[in-house]
Amino acid sequence: MNRILVTGGAGFVGSHLCERLLNEGNEVICLDNYFTGQKRNIEHLMGNHYFEIIRHDVTMPFFIEVDQIYNLACPASPIHYQHNPIKTVKTSVMGAVNMLGLAKRINAKILQASTSEVYGDPKIHPQTEDYWGHVNPIGTRSCYDEGKRVAETLFVNYHRQNNVKIKIIRIFNTYGPRMHPNDGRVVSNFIVQALEGKNITVYGEGNQTRSFQYVEDLINGMTKMMATGDDFTGPVNVGNPGEFTILELAQKVIDIIGSKSKIVFEDLPSDDPMQRQPDITLAKSKLGWEPKIKLDEGLKRTIEFFDNLLKEER
Ligand code: NAD
Ligand code: UDP
Repeated sequence: MNRILVTGGAGFVGSHLCERLLNEGNEVICLDNYFTGQKRNIEHLMGNHYFEIIRHDVTMPFFIEVDQIYNLACPASPIHYQHNPIKTVKTSVMGAVNMLGLAKRINAKILQASTSEVYGDPKIHPQTEDYWGHVNPIGTRSCYDEGKRVAETLFVNYHRQNNVKIKIIRIFNTYGPRMHPNDGRVVSNFIVQALEGKNITVYGEGNQTRSFQYVEDLINGMTKMMATGDDFTGPVNVGNPGEFTILELAQKVIDIIGSKSKIVFEDLPSDDPMQRQPDITLAKSKLGWEPKIKLDEGLKRTIEFFDNLLKEER
């Protein structure tokens, strides 16, 4: 049994990770400031004696004895990370400093939830880990993109300078149950709009692409990465190579739900990347991992979650 700290554990991905780690027989400490996370995401774990919750902000130092740290604390949806961009940078950068300092002190393994956003609006396609990216350092997305890039820099330097056992994964767009219904991300927006019979808001012409990964696949990749030997630090892409235009996604959601919603076109936000698709050759060879859940199947499971949630709220 390992004792494991999960920062951002009450969020969408974090809550699935806490659940998995507990199911595998570990002791889990979930740290969160509830900026975008919710207690209801982890409510079902609260009776477990091996689960502990701590309200804390990662921009402040934190001391605990654990074997492993998963550093997920950071808002991930553009509307949330742009709400207070300075705080977003602080969360990524000071959060990384504080968690790496802790890992160094207690000799814990630490995994960083980095992002495909480090590639920005990519000029190579699909994206491989050796691509340095194309990021606007002063754009509206930079608080997130550059914050995550500096976090990667901190991770590799704590490793080089202090031998901290680091793991970096670059997560591509992930969806599934427990996404916040109002967090503005495309999958949750489209599903909620289609279930409520409202217009489906496609930004731009909808020909930008994303590759959507079901959350269970991500958790498999994340835990496999943590289990690799200390010599493999990453970064490694963890995503589903299935690439879809946003318009295709809108149509799929409408078809699966059988919704009467109409597609409407709205302004494309600034610096919105045109394409995104992971090359997962490295993950296949180093982690023995590849995603299993196809978009249609993952959407069905996610739609069921939102359908129940909306019924509860009515
Ligand atoms: P989320 O917003 O649901 O979860 C983030 C969690 O971090 C929330 O519970 C939030 O309250 C917490 N948090 C935010 N700031 C904090 C702070 N200063 N101190 C303590 N807790 C704080 O987002 P998610 O989709 O679950 O993303 C989890 C992680 O994975 C993030 O680091 C994100 O950047 C990364 N990621 C996610 C995706 C995706 O598609 N979901 C893609 C790439 C990377
Ligand atoms: N998007 C959209 N309609 C929405 C929400 C998002 O067309 O209601 C688009 C958005 O412009 C982007 C893509 O969907 O091109 C993915 O957006 P999301 O915020 O989910 O993730 P990210 O841009 O960070 O990949």
